[in-house]
Amino acid sequence: MGADCLFCKIIAGEIPAQIRYEDAQLVVFADINPQAPHHFLIVPKKHIRTTLDLTPADNELIGHVYQVAGKLAVDLGIADEGFRVVNNCNEAGGQSVWHIHFHLLGGRNMTWPPG
Ligand code: AMP
Ligand code: ZN
Repeated sequence: MGADCLFCKIIAGEIPAQIRYEDAQLVVFADINPQAPHHFLIVPKKHIRTTLDLTPADNELIGHVYQVAGKLAVDLGIADEGFRVVNNCNEAGGQSVWHIHFHLLGGRNMTWPPG
């Protein structure tokens, strides 16, 4: 567990969250400040600080993240219309929690370029 890491505390059950899905490798919960009608955070249980800290040992984990994202989009009924999976890295990338996570956003038309 990362010291004083918000997402490690949610994973440990020390801070409540609206858990949507959980398995051995990751947890999915609702974003507290949703940016779309559907906004979930897909969070590996392993404390990895940023995308830059990934190693080849994490390749299967990151593939699993995208498999779960797709299945959740199907469950939510937003797969066919379209959705977005986002990872923000470091300050200028918009990262604010230093435990790697992937936003699943859907339920509205996404714009490009992103803000
Ligand atoms: P990022 O800015 O990419 O690091 O994303 C961090 C996300 O975590 C933001 O979208 C926040 O709204 C969300 N967030 C922060 N605190 C909580 C919390 N306690 N429960 C759920 N989501 C949170
Ligand atoms: Zn953590």
